Amino acid sequence: MANIFTSFLKNLTGQPQPDIEALIRNTENVTLVCKGCNSENSKHQLLRNNMICPQCGKYFRLGGKERIQLICDRKSCTEMFDNFESVDFLEFPGYAEKLEKAKKTTKEKDAVVCGTARIDGNEFAFFVMDSRFMMASMGSVLGEKITSIFEYADEHDLPVIGFTASGGARMQEGIVSLMQMAKVSGAVKRHSKSGNLYVTVLTDPTTGGCTASFAMQGDIILAEPKALVGFAGRRVVEQTTKSKLPDNFQSAEFLLEHGFVDAIVPREKLRETLSNLLNIHSKKPKKGGEE
Ligand SMILES: [Zn+2]
Repeated sequence: MANIFTSFLKNLTGQPQPDIEALIRNTENVTLVCKGCNSENSKHQLLRNNMICPQCGKYFRLGGKERIQLICDRKSCTEMFDNFESVDFLEFPGYAEKLEKAKKTTKEKDAVVCGTARIDGNEFAFFVMDSRFMMASMGSVLGEKITSIFEYADEHDLPVIGFTASGGARMQEGIVSLMQMAKVSGAVKRHSKSGNLYVTVLTDPTTGGCTASFAMQGDIILAEPKALVGFAGRRVVEQTTKSKLPDNFQSAEFLLEHGFVDAIVPREKLRETLSNLLNIHSKKPKKGGEE
C-alpha cells in the first residue's frame, strides 16, 4: 500500500509520477496466476503493486512497455525504432513460424523496446528487453535497435538505462546473432567516451551473449532480487569445471557478493534509485513537471 499512498501524495503535490492508470485501463478482467504460490491475482491489482505477488512477493515478468511505463513520468515516454522487424534471412527451419507466433502473442515486432523517457524530469534513453518474445534472444534487429538507441543517446548527451533479459544469442540467425555483441559494445564504448552514463538493470533471466556483452558493460549495474544472471547454464558449468556449484550460483545475490553487481534494488525502490542516479550523473539539466 505504501507505493499507492506515495503516488497519491505526489499527485497532490503535482510532482511527476508514472501513469499506472493508463496501464490499468487495458487490463479489465485479466487475471494472472502466481508461479510462486498459485494464487490468482487481477492484473490491475498487480500493476498497482509493481507486478509483485501480494501473497508471496514473487516478481512477475514484465513486457517491455509495461516495465518502462511503471517507472517513467506520465506521458514522458516516446518509443523509437519501432519499425524494425526481424525476418528469417537464413530460411532457418521453423524460425518464420516462431517469429509469427511471438509477434502475435506480444503485439511487438521484436524482443526489445527502445526510446526516450523521463524520471522526475530527468531525460534518458532506454532499451527494455522483453523475455516474452522468443526469450528475448539476441538477433540482428535487437542488436540494431540497441545500437541505434546508444547512438541517439550519444548524439543528444543522454544517459542510457537498459533493462536486460535474455536467453542468449538467436541461433536461427547464425553468426549474425553473435556479431551483435561486438556491434552493441562498440556503441556502448562511444557513448561512454562522450562522458555519458549507462545503467543496466539485470532482470530475470539475463544469460548468454547478452550477459557476455552489454548487460555487464554498465557504469552502474543494478539487479532485481533473485534474478537469474549467468553466461552458460549451470549444468554446462558443472560439467566443464568438474565442480559442485553452490545453490545460489548465478543468482543476483551471488553476483553482488562476488562484485559483479553494484546493488540489488527491489522493484518498488527502482524508480527512486534511478531518479537519484540520474540526478547525480545526467549531463543535461532536468525538465520540470508534465507537459
Ligand atoms: Zn505468489
